[in-house]
Amino acid sequence: MSLLCPLGLVEAVAPVEPVVMSRRSVQSLLEPLARAVPETWESVLVGEWSTEGERYGLGKFVFRSSRTRFKLGIFAGIHGDEPAGVLALCDLVRELEARPGWVSDYELHVYPLLNPTGYEDGTRESRSGRDLNREFWRGSLEPEVALMEGEILREKFDGYVALHSDDTSDGVYGFVRGATLTEHLLRPALAAAERALPVNRGSLIDGFHAVEGLIRSGYPGILGAPPGSKPQPFEIVLESPALAPLGMQRDALVNGVLEILRHYPQMMAFGGEL
Ligand SMILES: [Zn+2]
Repeated sequence: MSLLCPLGLVEAVAPVEPVVMSRRSVQSLLEPLARAVPETWESVLVGEWSTEGERYGLGKFVFRSSRTRFKLGIFAGIHGDEPAGVLALCDLVRELEARPGWVSDYELHVYPLLNPTGYEDGTRESRSGRDLNREFWRGSLEPEVALMEGEILREKFDGYVALHSDDTSDGVYGFVRGATLTEHLLRPALAAAERALPVNRGSLIDGFHAVEGLIRSGYPGILGAPPGSKPQPFEIVLESPALAPLGMQRDALVNGVLEILRHYPQMMAFGGEL
């Protein structure tokens, strides 16, 4: 197990948990991660707030290439009961450290845990009871959403990749929004994810029409680009099957994100038209 993914965290999110469990510890998740983050990455506190007298924060890890051409935001943990994406972003930073050529075109902003109270409680919603991934660009008063909306407006990403897990799906799948090239990024990402877990090839996934694991519609209010952004960024939501072994979900999600990072500069070299 790498330094980036401390054993304490893995134990905290093991699928077999005692009936009476203490809260998952955000500190045990993020502190070792921040300490172990490679020197080429910067650890940044996006903002803080108080919930029921306790202080919480949103953090990110930033990598800046000396010749940045593209700026991406990569997000996980907005649903507190979906640990695979959180862990996958631990793995991703380590994998990218070993592949400097893959990030030479990028400024990457990696947000490993957007819903720390939900993560502590093991719930999809934050402690306020809200599904934070239905609150974006609707005047939400939730502190996590307000912080991230400000962050997104400041950073103006060229692309968004959000990691999720779905306990009703027996395979990997994804949602595409935004730029027309997006589905040409998701297809190879799903193929790469399939090295770890099968793709869900059903025609109906999560209530949406799907083709080969790709869904072109989605829920309103999800984390992503502000409405009307020009030029349109690409927006991908990658979903792992939540009931599959955690290690395989992590591998599937990391493989998918790496493939997106590998393909995007190639596609843009052709003017984004494939
Ligand atoms: Zn989710």
